[in-house]
Amino acid sequence: MADKYLELVNSGMTKKLAKLLGLPRPPRLRRYGVDTPLLPGPVLVLGTSARAQELSDVMVSWGLDVRRHDAGQSKLGGLVLLLDELSHPEQLSALMLATSAALRKLVPGARVVSVSKPALANDEPAVAAVRQGIDGAMRSLGREMRGGATANGIVLAGDTSIVSPSALGALRFFFSGRSAYVDGQFLTVRTEAGELPDDFRAPLAGKVAVVTGAARGIGAEIARTLARDGAKVVLVDMPQAGDALAKVANQVGGTTLQLDVTAKDAGARIMDHALTRHGSLDLVVHNAGITRDKLLANMDAARWDSVIAVNIASQLRMNEVFLAAKIPGLRVVCLASTSGIAGNRGQTNYAASKGGVIGMVRASAALFAESGGSITAVAPGFIETEMTAKIPLGTRTVARLVLPSLMQGGLPVDVAEAIGFLGSDAAAGLNGQTLRVCGQSLVGA
Ligand code: NAD
Repeated sequence: MADKYLELVNSGMTKKLAKLLGLPRPPRLRRYGVDTPLLPGPVLVLGTSARAQELSDVMVSWGLDVRRHDAGQSKLGGLVLLLDELSHPEQLSALMLATSAALRKLVPGARVVSVSKPALANDEPAVAAVRQGIDGAMRSLGREMRGGATANGIVLAGDTSIVSPSALGALRFFFSGRSAYVDGQFLTVRTEAGELPDDFRAPLAGKVAVVTGAARGIGAEIARTLARDGAKVVLVDMPQAGDALAKVANQVGGTTLQLDVTAKDAGARIMDHALTRHGSLDLVVHNAGITRDKLLANMDAARWDSVIAVNIASQLRMNEVFLAAKIPGLRVVCLASTSGIAGNRGQTNYAASKGGVIGMVRASAALFAESGGSITAVAPGFIETEMTAKIPLGTRTVARLVLPSLMQGGLPVDVAEAIGFLGSDAAAGLNGQTLRVCGQSLVGA
């Protein structure tokens, strides 16, 4: 497993040997723990923005040591780049050079987060140029970060401000270990909707969450993560997976529902279980998914149709039921894949289903917002699960070590943490988006 390699190249004699041989040395990632600090050191805020002081005040209230000037030699745990007021590419220089100097002071696992505006077709050309340029610069910076540090961005659409709930929620997500395997990505805040939790240690307190495909792999980890964050979890999986499902449910104090998500009444049964057993339905995670890989030249109807049925048609059908019920504030988070963005040899069926998820999420955002809800997706890259353990070693090694900027596969918990954030009220303003959790893999770039 990748973990063993990571251990070998980062400790003792084998570390020296790996250095000598020039072997790739994946960094240890800084992951979330309930009691770990939000950042591993002070945060420096560079640039100007109308709400900069308010932002600094909020970060101070989070317990961070906030600096407005890069004085002295002290190490930094984070950098915030305020770029939302720039109107010409020539204005980028001063800030990027200040960033350059600060980069050398970042500790392992540090975070760089930019704040910018979207480049739109009706912008002045110079304004659109600098805004789109920031996108390119930050994605490149992501590829240059070392020691498990990452660079991501928040894009403020319309009149949304950096102190709106979802912008602050996104900032905390990017700062924290929850975003360990998210690099070179942007979250766009589209509305002022959303609410930060009273207690950041339990952002899903009092919520009832349903996770499909929860018996193993990513789904089981999502169930554990949502329960840790305070939710009561309903775990759904096929009847054949009943024993494994019960085991996970016992670990997290949740209830089980044995169900094939392709069943016509799946949406109704999920709603019924959540409402009768737990009194509400606040979050649905459409995680159940399958692969039936074959080159299209060798594809048969069974392979094609089963992948479409489980991975996208079931989600469409269940969402129709949830929408018709007008469940107040319902959040839905779907599993897409980088294969659905970049394509993958042997996966025309899977990529059609996962690209379909991304399209469905974008088109369903306004519908869920009518009842105060939202729908989002995560697109994982290479995640270490039973599914990916079956991939031939050579392909697996490339997928782990060569393609992602972070030089390793992600863990199921990395996907689960992103889902926990997107399924929380703090993320309401991110409605309709798909977030890649892929270590900035070249696949999907
Ligand atoms: P997995 O095969 O380990 O687990 C999938 C679970 O879904 C299983 O417990 C299975 O029984 C359940 N399931 C399958 N069909 C079902 C149905 N019709 N009804 C109810 N349950 C059903 O897969 P995983 O690697 O944990 O992947 C979880 C999700 O993440 C999938 O949607 C997958 O496409 C997506 N994904 C995974 C990766 C990765 O690298 N592992 C990458 C991108 C996306």
